[in-house]
Amino acid sequence: MAELDCIFCKIGGGEIPSERVFDDGVAFAIRDIAPKAPVHLLVIPFAHVEALESTTDGGQLASAHCLEVAPGIATSAGLESYRLVVNQGADAGQEVSHFHLHILGGRRLGAMG
Ligand code: 5GP
Ligand code: ZN
Repeated sequence: MAELDCIFCKIGGGEIPSERVFDDGVAFAIRDIAPKAPVHLLVIPFAHVEALESTTDGGQLASAHCLEVAPGIATSAGLESYRLVVNQGADAGQEVSHFHLHILGGRRLGAMG
């Protein structure tokens, strides 16, 4: 179910326009508005899954699905080498409480820290 004040629900529902680079009906991918690398994509389930530890079957399937489709999206974006990131919780830098997978690439990425 869509959450009223969730920006990713609004983007998924078309309420906020975006250019989708991928859409298979379960998840979609868009370019991050503030890219941290030459290629910075977000893979987002249409369903409002709050967090990685979602206990609902649907939530777990939706987040797992994002991981499944990410390599194909990265390849389509021309990436051979890339990093997948999930920020889980405030201390990890999570800003949007709707599960999403970051795909980062297009330059040599530094060490994680
Ligand atoms: P988080 O910090 O929650 O893991 O990542 C949220 C990401 O969403 C950030 O990298 C931020 O730049 C991106 N973002 C926030 N609002 C929008 C938006 O309206 N459109 C797009 N394309 N990206 C957004
Ligand atoms: Zn949402």
